[in-house]
Amino acid sequence: MTRIAFIGLGNMGGPMAANLVKAGHQVSGFDLSEESVKAAAETGVTPAATLAAAVHDKACVITMLPKGEHVASVWTALAGLVSPGTLLIDCSTIDVESARQAHGLAARGDCPSLDAPVSGGTTGAAAATLTFMVGGSDEAFAAGQPILEAMGRKIVHCGADGAGQAAKICNNMILGISMIGVSEAFVLAEKLGLSHQALYDVASTSSGQCWSLTTYCPVPGPVPTSPANNDYRPGFAAALMSKDLKLSQDAARQSGAVTPIGALASDLYAEFENNGHGLEDFSAIVRMLRDRPGR
Ligand code: NAD
Repeated sequence: MTRIAFIGLGNMGGPMAANLVKAGHQVSGFDLSEESVKAAAETGVTPAATLAAAVHDKACVITMLPKGEHVASVWTALAGLVSPGTLLIDCSTIDVESARQAHGLAARGDCPSLDAPVSGGTTGAAAATLTFMVGGSDEAFAAGQPILEAMGRKIVHCGADGAGQAAKICNNMILGISMIGVSEAFVLAEKLGLSHQALYDVASTSSGQCWSLTTYCPVPGPVPTSPANNDYRPGFAAALMSKDLKLSQDAARQSGAVTPIGALASDLYAEFENNGHGLEDFSAIVRMLRDRPGR
């Protein structure tokens, strides 16, 4: 049993904290939203009224927050609140640079730290089947692994500080590009008089096979569990995909990597979000592509 503080009890953090409780850890939780704290309390998390109260006397602090700026502000505050040796783990999806700065803040307070973003969405968070992509020292990883195992099925040590975030944005750049590719193929098939099912039956067993097709198929029918069959309710919201693609392009600029298709995917998801579709599942981009005027 480890004494853990969980900061950020939203769509992902709420069920993740609940799984830590189920695994026998003693978990206190804090969120700016009182509603989220109340919901977490119903799953056995001890509610805290402030960040300071949540992290007091804990061996580990986990953050699951929207963006890099939120992580920077909470980790800066943690520096004055936790004792040396406290393990700090950030599971949010943020840019690599902010993740490395957070590791720097932790090191100044003599705290081991990990960036540990996740894949698997809210269903994976609820079922404790998340994949964790982890960056940090071998010692910090060894300390964090048993805690992360209570929330996930696969825990991958990707390398040094920031490597977890690097793996996450590279993976999600593949995902955004492949979803647009699969969507374009269905739109082309429609124009050519080919049924969705026929394209699916061929591509899912041919070289076009990929997760965006066989798990998250962007048209209703071939994969009954995909969000397309549920009026594109997320799932994984288009706004989050847009955020991750922007992060991939920031990283590409900073590192000098050439990612022209990633840049185009980022522009298309930004347009989709700006047109008011950020809360739809990211596979709904097929509707924007279908509705575009022809060449
Ligand atoms: P969310 O908005 O549901 O939850 C974030 C929570 O953080 C909110 O409850 C908010 O009140 C809280 N918060 C913000 N600032 C805070 C502060 N200073 N102190 C305490 N609490 C604060 O978001 P989410 O869907 O849970 O996503 C969290 C992170 O996980 C994001 O970085 C997202 O990109 C990533 N992620 C989400 C999914 C998904 O499917 N939702 C999948 C993988 C990764």
